[in-house]
Amino acid sequence: MSLSGLIQFLGGSLQRLELRLAHAAGFDSVGPALAVSGPQILPQSHHSSDEENSSFLDSIVWMAAPKKRRTVEVNRCRRRNPNKLIKVKHNIEPCPECGNMKLKHTLCGFCFEKVRTETAMIRKQISSVEDGPLSAPAVDSVVLYETEAPSEADKDKRIIERNRKRPFWFNT
Ligand SMILES: [Zn+2]
Repeated sequence: MSLSGLIQFLGGSLQRLELRLAHAAGFDSVGPALAVSGPQILPQSHHSSDEENSSFLDSIVWMAAPKKRRTVEVNRCRRRNPNKLIKVKHNIEPCPECGNMKLKHTLCGFCFEKVRTETAMIRKQISSVEDGPLSAPAVDSVVLYETEAPSEADKDKRIIERNRKRPFWFNT
């Protein structure tokens, strides 16, 4: 059923309902006051269907699509262009401490990780002894490993003793 037909059907049924109400109320002489005619008060059916189509197409997100197929040669020339290739690095050298390759003028990541882990262990030992940073003494700290004795300069410093051998990469 089209839209105008539906509106006509609704208008007819409304007229019939109004007639019945008038009969029930005893107003036989009074005619229907409301006359609904669909196509005059509403936009035309073909016009509304055009609007529906355009709004439906507008709601779609249109993606860009290639109009011509690009050949394999063109695609490979674009992908393997020398400007797109990864540049060869010449600023790499072996780490003097551990021998792993590292960038020049930067810290070695392997050595940094080892020192970071050892420092975390030392901090953990300090916190287990002194329970909190607020109770730490206001003097310098010196870390002594096994078979290391405090020197004259370390007399009035806080001494943290580690029960392991000093790693060769962990300097004072
Ligand atoms: Zn290293």
